[in-house]
Amino acid sequence: MNNEFFVRSKPAIAIRGIHLDLKGLPPTSGRLFELLEILAEARINCIVVEWEDMYPWKTYPELKNETAYTESTVKKFVSKAASLGIEVIPLVQSFGHMENVLSKRRFKHLREIPDNVSDLCPLKTDSRDIVLQMIKDVLLTHTGIKHFHLGGDEVWSFGSCSACKKFIEKHGKASLYLYHLEPLLQFLNERDIRPIIWDDMIRTWNISEVKKIGKQADLMCWSYGIDPFKFVTRETIDKFMNAGCNLWAASAFKGADGAYVDIPYVQARIANMLAWVKCAETIKMKGVVATGWSRYNTFVSPCEGLEASLDTLVLAGKIAWDSKIPDDISEWVDGFLKFCEKKGIRTAHFSECRRLSEQLQNLRNSAFACARNFLQQAHLAGEPERINPFRTKDAKRHLLESLKNVRKVAKQWEKVHRTLVPSIWLKKYTLSRIEPVKKLIDIVYRKSSSSKLQF
Ligand SMILES: [Zn+2]
Repeated sequence: MNNEFFVRSKPAIAIRGIHLDLKGLPPTSGRLFELLEILAEARINCIVVEWEDMYPWKTYPELKNETAYTESTVKKFVSKAASLGIEVIPLVQSFGHMENVLSKRRFKHLREIPDNVSDLCPLKTDSRDIVLQMIKDVLLTHTGIKHFHLGGDEVWSFGSCSACKKFIEKHGKASLYLYHLEPLLQFLNERDIRPIIWDDMIRTWNISEVKKIGKQADLMCWSYGIDPFKFVTRETIDKFMNAGCNLWAASAFKGADGAYVDIPYVQARIANMLAWVKCAETIKMKGVVATGWSRYNTFVSPCEGLEASLDTLVLAGKIAWDSKIPDDISEWVDGFLKFCEKKGIRTAHFSECRRLSEQLQNLRNSAFACARNFLQQAHLAGEPERINPFRTKDAKRHLLESLKNVRKVAKQWEKVHRTLVPSIWLKKYTLSRIEPVKKLIDIVYRKSSSSKLQF
């Protein structure tokens, strides 16, 4: 047991989880298993897995992507987790964030708003059955699980269609939410699997409405800022507690510092995780899960990857165990990752991965800033006499140089991730960092030629 890295003899929080979001940079199956070993060393004993299109969907195979795991990989993952004392909690979206399902032609008719592929209309005939079928599919590979996360957050267009509007007028918002979810919650409860849902759609409910859902599901309160209680207020948490809910806290170890960044903002992640652990310890929440978002939503380019966030990942375990941060964070992380490497769990690439990711981010930010400055020039906005040809040439030179450097770093970045993430996803990630710079150059060239500039 790696006692040198942890202080307490007993953990501050009983269930110490992390969340694996497979929407961006999904690990290779080999790395997926290795990841469990890192978690076990970091004394993390729970993993919430958002399989999304990486799951080997059986009933609706069109929901799989080209590198989806096989059924045997998922089963092996679940059993390896169990052998390491890690509880696997699968997450299947049930209401909002149904993009993977609703963007497929076959399920188009189930959208709340015809053009919005995010939210399911709870009153369409097949809506609940589709979700139920997906839950059944996941249960085939997840034997012996204790919890099941049904998502249920950010249903932005909730109650927008005419049928839902009428239902709400008659019965209220909470009733419509429950109308859709209750049979799903019941299905899981009957199998001794406790459902979990995100708390955000429930925050405005009155206490008797909260009681209804609290009987059937745990609530996971999420907030990822430096001060998480600005977003989920103490009053809201008190209301949930007074309603008798089992509560979980969701912090974030990555994927919460901007939709288009390449590294986590470490200080913010630590502050956020620590604040939740302290709160969870005080009010005796059931567990804490540090989320690790891979995209802000299905339609934006991926944010920072797991391999560039190994420090905040292992710190999630440390903070949840000890309810404090190490005296010297980088020394602790460095020592811990070396300890893992010595045991044959690959972590030695982390510092190079972080350095390259940071470079990618800085180069892109500098290109964006350069293009923004260029577009702010007066000669492009109705004052043609206020022109300095040198500035325009300089902007072009800077952007071309940035593109060259982004391409160079992107190649190194891909190399460092080899065998950790399938190459198809590495290419997509680096393309998402190169293409915007190319587009900026296009814009600058087009603008400068239309401004009658002489070179
Ligand atoms: Zn509707």
